[in-house]
Amino acid sequence: MELWQQLQPRLEEVVREVIAPAAEETDRQARYPRAALNALGKAGLLGLLSSTEVGGLGAGLPEAVRVIERIAQDCPCTAMVLTMHYCGVALIEPFGGSPEMDAVRRDIAAGRHVSTLAVSEAASRSHIWAPAGTASNAGEEAGDVVQLNALKSMITSAGEADSYVWISRATQGDGNTLWLVDSRLPGLRIPSQFDGMGLRGNASSPIAAENVVVPRHFMLGADGAGEAVKGQHLMPFFTTLIATTSVGLMQGVLRRALLHVAGTRFSSTGGSLADLPTIRAYLAKAQLKADQAQLLRDDAVVAVQAGRADTRTRLLQCKAAAAEAALEVSDTAMRVCGGAAFRKELGIERLFRDARAASVMAPTTDVIYDMLGKSLCEAVT
Ligand SMILES: Cc1cc2nc3c(=O)[nH]c(=O)nc-3n(C[C@H](O)[C@H](O)[C@H](O)COP(=O)(O)OP(=O)(O)OC[C@H]3O[C@@H](n4cnc5c(N)ncnc54)[C@H](O)[C@@H]3O)c2cc1C
Repeated sequence: MELWQQLQPRLEEVVREVIAPAAEETDRQARYPRAALNALGKAGLLGLLSSTEVGGLGAGLPEAVRVIERIAQDCPCTAMVLTMHYCGVALIEPFGGSPEMDAVRRDIAAGRHVSTLAVSEAASRSHIWAPAGTASNAGEEAGDVVQLNALKSMITSAGEADSYVWISRATQGDGNTLWLVDSRLPGLRIPSQFDGMGLRGNASSPIAAENVVVPRHFMLGADGAGEAVKGQHLMPFFTTLIATTSVGLMQGVLRRALLHVAGTRFSSTGGSLADLPTIRAYLAKAQLKADQAQLLRDDAVVAVQAGRADTRTRLLQCKAAAAEAALEVSDTAMRVCGGAAFRKELGIERLFRDARAASVMAPTTDVIYDMLGKSLCEAVT
């Protein structure tokens, strides 16, 4: 973790100077955190996962987890935008080698390029393994290019990112295919702007693609192999980093709640909210939930690094556990801080709203329960 020791002060400065001061306005105005991304780019953190061959930091999952966790304590919205960027990079990096792909990789490493994942669709909803969007060979230059058609439903950084890592059905036969799509291509359109309950600055808008012409050299992996490629390269980052957004959020909401209960006095007794055993018990239970989720997330990272046999289970568990814990912990923070938490100045209601997203981001918690339950039952039949 020598690299982390160099990165931590840089990250801390960006959070302190740029991200935390803007968090309230990012939420209130539903403003995309562009200044944060520029600062993260300058600090080298957009290129965290980029290979050193293209000028990146060549870091991996443990460092990405630390970056996302710290940012999420103050602005889960920025943490989620960066999570989706890192997920995009995790799918772009293994497919370098061509001049076109390497140019994008160098831009990412230099902090000039933001990517994101364009997976969910209006037709297939949260069933992200079954896209309805197509990639067809039709067109004058058939063979060298494909035409993408789809209606993506809710894509973080829609219209803001420089590229979309896009999933479609395979050009022929079964399976899905991944593409790197330049967000400025003709035929891409944002039909309506995101106006969400939480993570309001995320620009998680729909994206319509009508006959978008994409060169075949931007195919990521083999035609039809999209699910296998996602399983190998994306899943470790996607599940742990979304879990980490929830973990950091819980740390942030508990810190705010503790500061409030310790600093608030009743004039009648002179005691603080923190003197009330009921309040203390709620906080203890919330901290326990947050720590359990964090430990599971940590074990998922260890499982990935060691290539353990239970890696898939741990990855799914850590996303579900952290998402559900964040719902409970942010609810507790609202309760123990009373009417004060209802107002915006404590920042607790913002984190409460932001916490709602992870459990409905695909694979949703209920879908994960179904997957894990199926594995359990199959193991005994
Ligand atoms: C803030 C935010 C940011 C997002 N960013 C991105 C992004 O960057 N890229 C991207 O591709 N997508 C993104 N998404 C979309 C996300 O991944 C999901 O696809 C989307 O939230 C699902 O919403 P839906 O209304 O289609 O859910 P639905 O599929 O309609 O689900 C509704 C309910 O049914 C449950 N359900 C559905 N199927 C099952 C099942 N088989 N078993 C049990 N329960 C089930 C779900 O758990 C959910 O509770 C984002 C979503 C949010 C909220």
